[in-house]
Amino acid sequence: MDHNTHVVCPVCSANHFTLKYQATYEYSYSIDGNAPGVNNTNELLPYMYDKREQKDANQYIECTNCGTNYPCYFDKWTEGITTQMIQEAIASAYMVRF
Ligand SMILES: [Zn+2]
Repeated sequence: MDHNTHVVCPVCSANHFTLKYQATYEYSYSIDGNAPGVNNTNELLPYMYDKREQKDANQYIECTNCGTNYPCYFDKWTEGITTQMIQEAIASAYMVRF
């Protein structure tokens, strides 16, 4: 796969980017007789939670050359995202910050 894009960093003019998605989740485990979590029996398995709640999410495009972060929001990870949409997200984030 070709990782070169036609998207250009407004700061350094490089064209290599990474989209980063940070999320904070709170996992809840009901306390019961054998182990925390109704689905756990002998040990606490991190993925056998009773409730998961997203507390925070942060999404940005990072220039891999100069490290500048451009906050963005994409919720559809389909082929519908075009180079132009990414460039526009970078441009609007750049306008806000600089
Ligand atoms: Zn850059």
